[in-house]
Amino acid sequence: MKKSLIYLEPNNYQNSVDLLEVARQMYADDAYETYAVSFASCCREAEGLFDYLIEVLDQQIQNFDIINTTNVLEELQQVYQFDSILIPATHIGRMLAPRMAMRLHVGLVADVTAIKHTNGVLEMVRPAFSGKIMAGIVNRGRIPVMMSIRQNVFTYQLGESKNSLRIEYHPKPAEKSKIELLSISEKEKTNDIRDSEVLVSGGGGTMRYFRRLKLLADEMNSQVSASRRIVDSGIASRSIQVGQSGKTVAPRLYIALGIYGSLQHIEGLKNVESIISVNTNKHAPICSLSDIVVEGDAEEFIEKLVDKIKREKRICHENDG
Ligand SMILES: Cc1cc2nc3c(=O)[nH]c(=O)nc-3n(C[C@H](O)[C@H](O)[C@H](O)COP(=O)(O)OP(=O)(O)OC[C@H]3O[C@@H](n4cnc5c(N)ncnc54)[C@H](O)[C@@H]3O)c2cc1C
Repeated sequence: MKKSLIYLEPNNYQNSVDLLEVARQMYADDAYETYAVSFASCCREAEGLFDYLIEVLDQQIQNFDIINTTNVLEELQQVYQFDSILIPATHIGRMLAPRMAMRLHVGLVADVTAIKHTNGVLEMVRPAFSGKIMAGIVNRGRIPVMMSIRQNVFTYQLGESKNSLRIEYHPKPAEKSKIELLSISEKEKTNDIRDSEVLVSGGGGTMRYFRRLKLLADEMNSQVSASRRIVDSGIASRSIQVGQSGKTVAPRLYIALGIYGSLQHIEGLKNVESIISVNTNKHAPICSLSDIVVEGDAEEFIEKLVDKIKREKRICHENDG
Protein backbone atom coordinates (compact mmCIF):
# COMPACT_ATOMS: atom_id res chain seq x y z
CA MET A 1 0.00 0.00 0.00
CA LYS A 2 1.50 3.36 -1.07
CA LYS A 3 1.34 6.25 1.36
CA SER A 4 1.10 9.85 0.24
CA LEU A 5 1.47 12.82 2.60
CA ILE A 6 -0.14 16.14 1.67
CA TYR A 7 0.81 19.30 3.51
CA LEU A 8 -2.31 21.33 4.34
CA GLU A 9 -1.41 24.98 4.25
CA PRO A 10 -3.95 26.91 6.33
CA ASN A 11 -3.90 29.98 4.05
CA ASN A 12 -4.27 27.86 0.93
CA TYR A 13 -6.54 25.12 2.10
CA GLN A 14 -8.30 24.49 -1.23
CA ASN A 15 -5.04 24.28 -3.20
CA SER A 16 -3.76 21.78 -0.66
CA VAL A 17 -6.87 19.60 -0.84
CA ASP A 18 -6.67 19.62 -4.63
CA LEU A 19 -3.38 17.72 -4.32
CA LEU A 20 -5.52 14.64 -3.65
CA GLU A 21 -6.00 14.66 -7.41
CA VAL A 22 -2.20 14.48 -7.89
CA ALA A 23 -2.07 11.44 -5.59
CA ARG A 24 -4.96 9.87 -7.51
CA GLN A 25 -3.17 10.34 -10.83
CA MET A 26 0.18 9.12 -9.44
CA TYR A 27 -1.18 5.89 -8.05
CA ALA A 28 -3.77 5.23 -10.72
CA ASP A 29 -3.16 1.48 -10.65
CA ASP A 30 -1.87 1.04 -7.11
CA ALA A 31 -3.59 0.89 -3.77
CA TYR A 32 -2.74 3.99 -1.77
CA GLU A 33 -3.60 5.88 1.38
CA THR A 34 -3.64 9.63 1.80
CA TYR A 35 -2.38 11.44 4.89
CA ALA A 36 -2.95 15.14 5.55
CA VAL A 37 -0.71 16.97 7.96
CA SER A 38 -1.90 20.19 9.49
CA PHE A 39 -0.55 22.56 12.11
CA ALA A 40 -3.81 24.43 12.35
CA SER A 41 -7.49 23.73 12.69
CA CYS A 42 -7.97 23.00 8.97
CA CYS A 43 -7.59 19.32 9.81
CA ARG A 44 -11.24 19.39 10.83
CA GLU A 45 -12.34 20.75 7.44
CA ALA A 46 -10.50 17.91 5.72
CA GLU A 47 -12.53 15.28 7.57
CA GLY A 48 -13.92 12.74 5.11
CA LEU A 49 -11.40 13.58 2.35
CA PHE A 50 -8.24 11.86 3.57
CA ASP A 51 -7.63 8.42 5.06
CA TYR A 52 -5.58 9.90 7.91
CA LEU A 53 -5.50 13.39 9.37
CA ILE A 54 -2.36 14.16 11.32
CA GLU A 55 -2.89 17.15 13.57
CA VAL A 56 0.37 18.50 14.94
CA LEU A 57 -0.21 19.60 18.49
CA ASP A 58 2.23 22.41 18.96
CA GLN A 59 0.68 25.86 19.20
CA GLN A 60 4.13 27.49 19.02
CA ILE A 61 4.80 26.58 15.38
CA GLN A 62 3.54 29.32 13.10
CA ASN A 63 2.79 28.91 9.41
CA PHE A 64 5.90 30.91 8.40
CA ASP A 65 8.23 29.01 10.75
CA ILE A 66 9.66 26.83 8.00
CA ILE A 67 12.51 25.41 10.09
CA ASN A 68 10.27 23.93 12.77
CA THR A 69 7.72 22.81 10.16
CA THR A 70 10.51 20.98 8.33
CA ASN A 71 11.63 19.38 11.61
CA VAL A 72 8.14 18.00 12.22
CA LEU A 73 7.68 16.71 8.66
CA GLU A 74 11.05 14.99 8.90
CA GLU A 75 9.93 13.29 12.14
CA LEU A 76 6.70 12.20 10.45
CA GLN A 77 8.64 10.74 7.52
CA GLN A 78 10.72 8.67 9.95
CA VAL A 79 7.58 7.35 11.63
CA TYR A 80 5.34 6.70 8.61
CA GLN A 81 7.80 6.19 5.69
CA PHE A 82 5.68 7.96 3.08
CA ASP A 83 6.16 7.08 -0.58
CA SER A 84 5.39 10.62 -1.69
CA ILE A 85 5.17 14.08 -0.12
CA LEU A 86 3.08 16.67 -1.94
CA ILE A 87 3.29 20.36 -1.12
CA PRO A 88 1.35 23.21 -2.80
CA ALA A 89 3.72 25.63 -4.61
CA THR A 90 2.54 28.62 -2.60
CA HIS A 91 4.96 31.15 -1.08
CA ILE A 92 5.23 28.99 2.02
CA GLY A 93 5.30 25.73 0.05
CA ARG A 94 8.15 26.98 -2.14
CA MET A 95 10.25 27.54 0.99
CA LEU A 96 9.24 24.31 2.68
CA ALA A 97 9.59 21.81 -0.19
CA PRO A 98 13.33 22.30 -0.97
CA ARG A 99 14.21 22.28 2.74
CA MET A 100 12.34 19.00 3.17
CA ALA A 101 14.08 17.47 0.16
CA MET A 102 17.50 18.48 1.52
CA ARG A 103 16.71 16.95 4.89
CA LEU A 104 15.58 13.67 3.39
CA HIS A 105 18.41 13.61 0.81
CA VAL A 106 15.97 13.16 -2.05
CA GLY A 107 15.27 15.12 -5.21
CA LEU A 108 12.45 17.62 -5.58
CA VAL A 109 10.40 18.29 -8.67
CA ALA A 110 9.18 21.84 -8.21
CA ASP A 111 6.15 23.51 -9.77
CA VAL A 112 4.64 20.37 -11.27
CA THR A 113 1.80 21.02 -13.74
CA ALA A 114 0.96 17.50 -14.94
CA ILE A 115 1.39 13.83 -14.09
CA LYS A 116 1.99 11.25 -16.80
CA HIS A 117 2.67 7.55 -16.95
CA THR A 118 4.97 6.60 -19.82
CA ASN A 119 5.50 2.85 -20.28
CA GLY A 120 4.46 2.35 -16.70
CA VAL A 121 6.93 4.94 -15.37
CA LEU A 122 5.70 7.98 -13.46
CA GLU A 123 6.66 11.28 -15.09
CA MET A 124 6.29 14.59 -13.31
CA VAL A 125 5.91 17.41 -15.81
CA ARG A 126 7.01 20.99 -15.22
CA PRO A 127 7.86 24.00 -17.40
CA ALA A 128 11.60 24.47 -18.03
CA PHE A 129 13.75 27.13 -19.74
CA SER A 130 11.21 29.92 -19.08
CA GLY A 131 8.43 27.66 -20.23
CA LYS A 132 9.93 27.04 -23.68
CA ILE A 133 9.75 23.31 -23.07
CA MET A 134 7.79 21.07 -20.76
CA ALA A 135 10.16 18.67 -18.99
CA GLY A 136 9.02 15.20 -17.95
CA ILE A 137 11.02 14.19 -14.87
CA VAL A 138 11.39 10.63 -13.61
CA ASN A 139 12.42 9.67 -10.08
CA ARG A 140 15.10 6.99 -10.27
CA GLY A 141 16.37 7.68 -6.78
CA ARG A 142 15.16 7.12 -3.27
CA ILE A 143 11.71 7.63 -1.94
CA PRO A 144 9.77 9.64 -0.98
CA VAL A 145 8.96 11.21 -4.31
CA MET A 146 8.78 14.92 -3.52
CA MET A 147 6.87 17.52 -5.48
CA SER A 148 5.65 21.04 -5.12
CA ILE A 149 2.59 21.55 -7.30
CA ARG A 150 1.52 24.67 -9.12
CA GLN A 151 -1.65 26.31 -7.81
CA ASN A 152 -4.99 26.02 -9.63
CA VAL A 153 -3.77 23.27 -11.98
CA PHE A 154 -5.31 20.19 -10.37
CA THR A 155 -8.90 20.02 -9.16
CA TYR A 156 -10.04 17.30 -6.83
CA GLN A 157 -13.56 16.05 -7.51
CA LEU A 158 -15.29 15.06 -4.31
CA GLY A 159 -15.71 11.31 -4.15
CA GLU A 160 -17.18 9.08 -1.49
CA SER A 161 -16.66 10.40 2.01
CA LYS A 162 -13.85 8.59 3.84
CA ASN A 163 -13.75 7.48 7.39
CA SER A 164 -10.79 9.71 8.25
CA LEU A 165 -8.70 8.51 11.13
CA ARG A 166 -7.43 11.37 13.28
CA ILE A 167 -3.90 11.19 14.63
CA GLU A 168 -2.84 13.67 17.28
CA TYR A 169 0.89 14.09 16.87
CA HIS A 170 3.06 15.53 19.62
CA PRO A 171 6.34 16.58 17.99
CA LYS A 172 9.67 17.01 19.74
CA PRO A 173 9.89 20.45 21.39
CA ALA A 174 10.23 23.17 18.76
CA GLU A 175 13.45 25.14 18.37
CA LYS A 176 13.17 28.78 19.33
CA SER A 177 12.13 30.43 16.09
CA LYS A 178 14.55 32.97 14.66
CA ILE A 179 11.60 34.79 13.14
CA GLU A 180 9.82 37.31 15.31
CA LEU A 181 6.34 38.41 14.32
CA LEU A 182 6.21 42.18 14.77
CA SER A 183 2.82 43.04 13.30
CA ILE A 184 0.17 41.82 10.92
CA SER A 185 -1.36 44.08 8.30
CA GLU A 186 -4.19 43.41 5.88
CA LYS A 187 -2.93 42.32 2.45
CA GLU A 188 -3.52 44.98 -0.19
CA LYS A 189 -5.69 44.05 -3.14
CA THR A 190 -3.29 42.20 -5.40
CA ASN A 191 -2.87 42.52 -9.11
CA ASP A 192 -2.41 38.82 -9.54
CA ILE A 193 -4.51 37.66 -12.49
CA ARG A 194 -5.30 34.47 -10.53
CA ASP A 195 -7.33 36.54 -8.07
CA SER A 196 -9.52 38.27 -10.65
CA GLU A 197 -13.13 37.13 -11.15
CA VAL A 198 -13.13 38.56 -14.69
CA LEU A 199 -10.18 38.58 -17.09
CA VAL A 200 -9.95 40.60 -20.29
CA SER A 201 -7.32 38.67 -22.19
CA GLY A 202 -5.53 39.66 -25.38
CA GLY A 203 -3.70 37.60 -27.98
CA GLY A 204 -1.93 38.06 -31.30
CA GLY A 205 -5.03 39.68 -32.80
CA THR A 206 -4.70 42.61 -30.35
CA MET A 207 -0.99 43.21 -30.88
CA ARG A 208 -1.43 46.75 -32.28
CA TYR A 209 -3.82 47.99 -29.62
CA PHE A 210 -3.21 45.75 -26.60
CA ARG A 211 -3.15 48.80 -24.24
CA ARG A 212 -6.81 49.46 -25.06
CA LEU A 213 -7.80 46.27 -23.23
CA LYS A 214 -7.24 48.16 -19.96
CA LEU A 215 -10.12 50.51 -20.86
CA LEU A 216 -12.50 47.57 -20.92
CA ALA A 217 -10.94 45.89 -17.88
CA ASP A 218 -11.29 49.10 -15.83
CA GLU A 219 -14.96 49.48 -16.76
CA MET A 220 -15.55 45.87 -15.73
CA ASN A 221 -13.55 46.16 -12.53
CA SER A 222 -11.33 43.36 -13.75
CA GLN A 223 -7.77 42.70 -14.88
CA VAL A 224 -5.93 42.30 -18.17
CA SER A 225 -4.15 39.07 -19.06
CA ALA A 226 -2.41 37.94 -22.24
CA SER A 227 -1.37 35.04 -24.40
CA ARG A 228 2.28 34.21 -24.84
CA ARG A 229 2.32 35.81 -28.30
CA ILE A 230 1.83 39.20 -26.60
CA VAL A 231 4.33 38.47 -23.84
CA ASP A 232 7.04 37.22 -26.20
CA SER A 233 6.58 40.39 -28.27
CA GLY A 234 7.52 42.41 -25.20
CA ILE A 235 4.14 44.15 -25.04
CA ALA A 236 3.14 42.70 -21.68
CA SER A 237 4.93 41.24 -18.68
CA ARG A 238 5.17 37.49 -18.17
CA SER A 239 3.33 37.91 -14.86
CA ILE A 240 0.06 38.26 -16.77
CA GLN A 241 0.58 35.36 -19.20
CA VAL A 242 -2.08 32.67 -19.14
CA GLY A 243 -1.14 29.14 -20.10
CA GLN A 244 1.11 26.17 -19.67
CA SER A 245 4.23 28.29 -19.18
CA GLY A 246 2.34 31.18 -17.62
CA LYS A 247 -0.32 31.16 -14.92
CA THR A 248 -3.32 28.93 -14.46
CA VAL A 249 -6.42 31.02 -13.90
CA ALA A 250 -9.95 30.24 -12.79
CA PRO A 251 -12.06 33.39 -13.31
CA ARG A 252 -15.83 33.39 -13.56
CA LEU A 253 -15.60 35.14 -16.94
CA TYR A 254 -12.74 35.00 -19.45
CA ILE A 255 -12.97 37.37 -22.41
CA ALA A 256 -10.55 36.11 -25.06
CA LEU A 257 -9.80 38.86 -27.57
CA GLY A 258 -7.84 37.83 -30.67
CA ILE A 259 -6.64 34.59 -29.06
CA TYR A 260 -6.38 31.51 -31.24
CA GLY A 261 -6.68 29.00 -28.41
CA SER A 262 -3.56 26.86 -28.71
CA LEU A 263 -3.35 23.83 -26.45
CA GLN A 264 -0.71 25.56 -24.34
CA HIS A 265 -2.98 28.56 -23.79
CA ILE A 266 -6.06 26.49 -22.96
CA GLU A 267 -4.04 24.56 -20.37
CA GLY A 268 -4.04 27.73 -18.29
CA LEU A 269 -7.83 27.86 -18.13
CA LYS A 270 -9.16 25.72 -15.30
CA ASN A 271 -12.70 25.85 -13.98
CA VAL A 272 -13.51 29.01 -15.91
CA GLU A 273 -17.27 29.44 -15.67
CA SER A 274 -17.84 31.26 -18.98
CA ILE A 275 -15.72 32.23 -21.96
CA ILE A 276 -16.56 34.94 -24.48
CA SER A 277 -14.28 34.94 -27.48
CA VAL A 278 -13.92 37.62 -30.11
CA ASN A 279 -12.11 36.48 -33.19
CA THR A 280 -12.07 37.29 -36.90
CA ASN A 281 -11.89 33.53 -37.46
CA LYS A 282 -14.88 31.75 -35.96
CA HIS A 283 -13.13 28.41 -36.51
CA ALA A 284 -10.27 29.23 -34.11
CA PRO A 285 -10.15 26.46 -31.43
CA ILE A 286 -10.99 28.85 -28.58
CA CYS A 287 -14.40 29.45 -30.21
CA SER A 288 -15.44 25.83 -29.76
CA LEU A 289 -14.82 26.16 -26.00
CA SER A 290 -16.66 29.46 -25.68
CA ASP A 291 -20.15 30.16 -24.39
CA ILE A 292 -20.44 33.19 -26.67
CA VAL A 293 -18.48 33.74 -29.88
CA VAL A 294 -18.33 37.16 -31.50
CA GLU A 295 -17.02 36.92 -35.05
CA GLY A 296 -15.28 40.19 -35.79
CA ASP A 297 -12.63 42.69 -34.92
CA ALA A 298 -11.62 42.77 -31.25
CA GLU A 299 -10.72 46.48 -31.30
CA GLU A 300 -14.20 47.41 -32.48
CA PHE A 301 -15.68 45.07 -29.84
CA ILE A 302 -13.73 46.82 -27.06
CA GLU A 303 -14.85 50.28 -28.21
CA LYS A 304 -18.52 49.30 -28.48
CA LEU A 305 -18.60 47.45 -25.17
CA VAL A 306 -16.82 50.25 -23.28
CA ASP A 307 -19.31 52.79 -24.72
CA LYS A 308 -22.24 50.58 -23.79
CA ILE A 309 -21.06 50.00 -20.23
CA LYS A 310 -20.43 53.74 -19.75
CA ARG A 311 -23.90 54.57 -21.11
CA GLU A 312 -25.56 52.00 -18.81
CA LYS A 313 -23.62 53.28 -15.80
CA ARG A 314 -24.69 56.87 -16.63
CA ILE A 315 -28.36 55.84 -16.85
CA CYS A 316 -28.14 53.96 -13.53
CA HIS A 317 -26.49 56.98 -11.93
CA GLU A 318 -29.20 59.36 -13.26
CA ASN A 319 -31.96 57.02 -12.04
CA ASP A 320 -30.35 56.81 -8.61
CA GLY A 321 -30.01 60.59 -8.45
C1 LIG B 1 6.35 24.73 -24.59
C2 LIG B 1 5.39 25.81 -25.00
C3 LIG B 1 4.72 26.49 -23.99
C4 LIG B 1 3.80 27.49 -24.35
N1 LIG B 1 3.14 28.15 -23.35
C5 LIG B 1 2.19 29.05 -23.68
C6 LIG B 1 1.45 29.71 -22.66
O1 LIG B 1 1.66 29.55 -21.47
N2 LIG B 1 0.48 30.59 -23.04
C7 LIG B 1 0.19 30.86 -24.37
O2 LIG B 1 -0.71 31.67 -24.65
N3 LIG B 1 0.92 30.25 -25.34
C8 LIG B 1 1.91 29.38 -25.04
N4 LIG B 1 2.63 28.81 -26.03
C9 LIG B 1 2.49 29.35 -27.43
C10 LIG B 1 1.29 28.80 -28.15
O3 LIG B 1 1.63 27.60 -28.78
C11 LIG B 1 0.78 29.81 -29.20
O4 LIG B 1 1.85 30.14 -30.07
C12 LIG B 1 0.23 31.10 -28.61
O5 LIG B 1 -0.70 30.80 -27.59
C13 LIG B 1 -0.47 31.90 -29.72
O6 LIG B 1 -0.98 33.06 -29.17
P1 LIG B 1 -2.29 33.75 -29.76
O7 LIG B 1 -3.41 32.80 -29.85
O8 LIG B 1 -2.51 34.98 -28.96
O9 LIG B 1 -1.79 34.28 -31.18
P2 LIG B 1 -2.05 33.80 -32.66
O10 LIG B 1 -1.74 32.37 -32.82
O11 LIG B 1 -1.31 34.79 -33.48
O12 LIG B 1 -3.61 33.96 -32.86
C14 LIG B 1 -4.23 35.20 -33.07
C15 LIG B 1 -5.72 35.00 -33.16
O13 LIG B 1 -6.34 36.27 -33.27
C16 LIG B 1 -7.25 36.28 -34.37
N5 LIG B 1 -7.28 37.66 -34.86
C17 LIG B 1 -6.41 38.28 -35.70
N6 LIG B 1 -6.74 39.57 -35.84
C18 LIG B 1 -7.84 39.77 -35.09
C19 LIG B 1 -8.66 40.91 -34.82
N7 LIG B 1 -8.39 42.12 -35.32
N8 LIG B 1 -9.73 40.78 -34.00
C20 LIG B 1 -10.05 39.56 -33.46
N9 LIG B 1 -9.30 38.45 -33.68
C21 LIG B 1 -8.21 38.56 -34.48
C22 LIG B 1 -6.74 35.24 -35.33
O14 LIG B 1 -7.81 34.72 -36.11
C23 LIG B 1 -6.16 34.20 -34.37
O15 LIG B 1 -7.14 33.27 -33.99
C24 LIG B 1 3.56 27.82 -25.73
C25 LIG B 1 4.25 27.11 -26.72
C26 LIG B 1 5.15 26.13 -26.36
C27 LIG B 1 5.87 25.40 -27.45
